Amino acid sequence: MEKVKVGILGATGSVGQRFVELLENHPFFEVAALCASEKSVGKAYGDLMKSRWKISSDIPSYAKPMVVTSPEPKETPGLQIVFSGLDASIAGEVETAYAEAGVMVISNSKNHRMVDNVPILSAEVNPEHLAVLDAQLTKGKIITNSNCTIMGVTIALKPLFDQFGIESLMIFSMQAISGAGYPGVPSMDILGNVVPFIGGEEPKAESEPQKCLGHVQDGKIVSADFKMSAHCNRVPVFDGHTVCISVKLKKKASKEEIISLWRNFQAEPQKLSLPSAPPKPIIYREEDDRPQPRLDLYEGKGMGVVVGRLREDPILDWKFVVLSHNTVRGAAGAAVLNAELLYKKGYLRSK
Ligand code: NAP
Repeated sequence: MEKVKVGILGATGSVGQRFVELLENHPFFEVAALCASEKSVGKAYGDLMKSRWKISSDIPSYAKPMVVTSPEPKETPGLQIVFSGLDASIAGEVETAYAEAGVMVISNSKNHRMVDNVPILSAEVNPEHLAVLDAQLTKGKIITNSNCTIMGVTIALKPLFDQFGIESLMIFSMQAISGAGYPGVPSMDILGNVVPFIGGEEPKAESEPQKCLGHVQDGKIVSADFKMSAHCNRVPVFDGHTVCISVKLKKKASKEEIISLWRNFQAEPQKLSLPSAPPKPIIYREEDDRPQPRLDLYEGKGMGVVVGRLREDPILDWKFVVLSHNTVRGAAGAAVLNAELLYKKGYLRSK
């Protein structure tokens, strides 16, 4: 079967490198374009990335000879999807240009996330949000991921939200340095330190979960109505965002019920056996000191959301800890999973 031609925008960055890795030998998709900024254009990816590749496996051989192009639709005709790991300063206009050219855009940037008819798609959480794509007027459509911190949070909350409802939520993040892209936070600011501020992060963390867990009405996504507060911190961890969560539920729940919901959680990607779907989207660990980035980050090849430390909260109802891989589950892996969902559900235009 002929594969769907895809492009990676921002292919040289932290998220872009993950796309290059995860799309190697993909059963549905073939990478036909690697795009980045002016300073990278015209160079062979393998040469350009020799000192910039930050993933432990080698640069995939398919990508090494590919020449980096600028992110413009006319550069590579025939693309059906572009995965965007572009810097937010440029992502908005570039992604719109691809959508206007008829290409399906799957973005990791914040630019289009809060537009009514743009889903913040999380394949396990809200596949029904794809219904709003018809309300986008461009020939191609735009889908986004949530912020990387919020991805694991909303997956862990989804079964609780469906079963008990959510009244209010407090989250405290400990976010890895790779979340700031490359080269990211200067080593002298982060080594042996904690930085209790990440520019622009808390407003995103306080609005995206409600949209992810919202419902579709009249072609728009209506956000869920719970209140929430977020503290976002940068910590000296390379990959993996850890989030402490306290939640007040609308209905009473027992510890056993919550753990059972997490352990048995299955969603559309598992039912459709999508290639990037982890068999268990949520893994609950009983140990007092888990999850930990060093030990638990690669559950489900980085697509598993690891939860632990469920206990009663003296102010709200329950508190627990969630860990997810920021460039895999929080970015490239989730975007590839979304693309697999679109493919299986027939959302890709015919060539
Ligand atoms: P990054 O490492 O800084 O990479 C940015 C990419 O954008 C690079 O490929 C860069 O190309 C390209 N770029 C920058 N300016 C450009 C321009 N004017 N024209 C064309 N390309 C340009 O950033 P990142 O961490 O991968 O993040 C990418 C996006 O994903 C951001 O919007 C970020 O907020 C979001 N995100 C990041 C994470 C994470 O964990 N890192 C998770 C979720 C979402 P050059 O190398 O040629 O400059």
